[in-house]
Amino acid sequence: MKRKTFIIEEYEIEIQETVQKLIAAIVKEGDIDLMIRLKYYHTPLTRRLIDSIADTIKAVGKEHEFVVDIVLETDQWKKIKQLRRKLNQYSISLDLKVSDGLQVKEIAHYKKKLLLDKIMLSCKDYDTFYQSYHRWKTAGLSIALEEYELTLKEYLQFFEEWIHDPKATWFVPFEDIISCMMTGVPAGICEHSSCMGKYLYLDQNKKVYFCAKKRENTQMYSLTENVPDLLYNEIYDNALGMAIEKRNQCAEECELFGLCRGGCPLDEKLAEACGEYIQKVSRIGEFIEKEIVNSFTDIENPCMRQFYLSLIAYGFRFSQ
Ligand code: SF4
Ligand code: SF4
Repeated sequence: MKRKTFIIEEYEIEIQETVQKLIAAIVKEGDIDLMIRLKYYHTPLTRRLIDSIADTIKAVGKEHEFVVDIVLETDQWKKIKQLRRKLNQYSISLDLKVSDGLQVKEIAHYKKKLLLDKIMLSCKDYDTFYQSYHRWKTAGLSIALEEYELTLKEYLQFFEEWIHDPKATWFVPFEDIISCMMTGVPAGICEHSSCMGKYLYLDQNKKVYFCAKKRENTQMYSLTENVPDLLYNEIYDNALGMAIEKRNQCAEECELFGLCRGGCPLDEKLAEACGEYIQKVSRIGEFIEKEIVNSFTDIENPCMRQFYLSLIAYGFRFSQ
């Protein structure tokens, strides 16, 4: 079954019909596991809007099952209770964007009640990320970072500290790469999971992209135009051609192909990104190899300890 993610930025009632058409077009492809990701950063989440979202999803959901993944601005996150009630037959996971005014204990209180998934930190630099991580880790949820991406130096420096922190919580980039290395399940990061055909992104200006990060050169059309094929067009086909060529080359030349699947086909700095990816994988691989020969229960980092133990519980064998 193919997983497809439909990202909608700032859903509005006016686009209900169009969104329904897009969802219907996606599920028409057949054998699709669809995830809808709603990004709310500015639109107030009113009751009417919640009703409209629920109706949109239910209209298509009568015939197809899919997962709903919702990202909300923090000052609106309590409203998710209404949405949960309306869409109780779907699985909803919540990523919370936190703001300074929020208290860690508030999040901790609602963690179980609302089944929160992860915390999103919006940071401008490493120092603010570092402080925020240590502030929010006590809520016990995975932590993701948006806007700012750690440099290679910061990533490795943070990993060295994180891996020995007895009070660590998962940092999503580590969670992703470690589970991919340990289980072989493809990474959640688009750049390392062969992205083509997996994403559709509708932004608040009604432009449609085939990219999870809405890179400029991935815009296929605007909904204000007369669009013959709602899902793909020539721009997508050209990118797909490039991606296939790149993947074939990577499959022949790179020993990390099994993990990475060819990187982002539209990244102009791909060579640099590959070098960094190789260094990250090799440092984390060193740690995994070293710790596997030691006792699992002696691992300081609680995320890693639990991860190892759950792999063993599920019958995962480290030896060949
Ligand atoms: S060469 Fe780069 S993009 Fe290709 S598989 Fe290796 S790390 Fe990934
Ligand atoms: S084009 Fe690049 S950035 Fe966009 S989804 Fe694919 S891998 Fe990710």
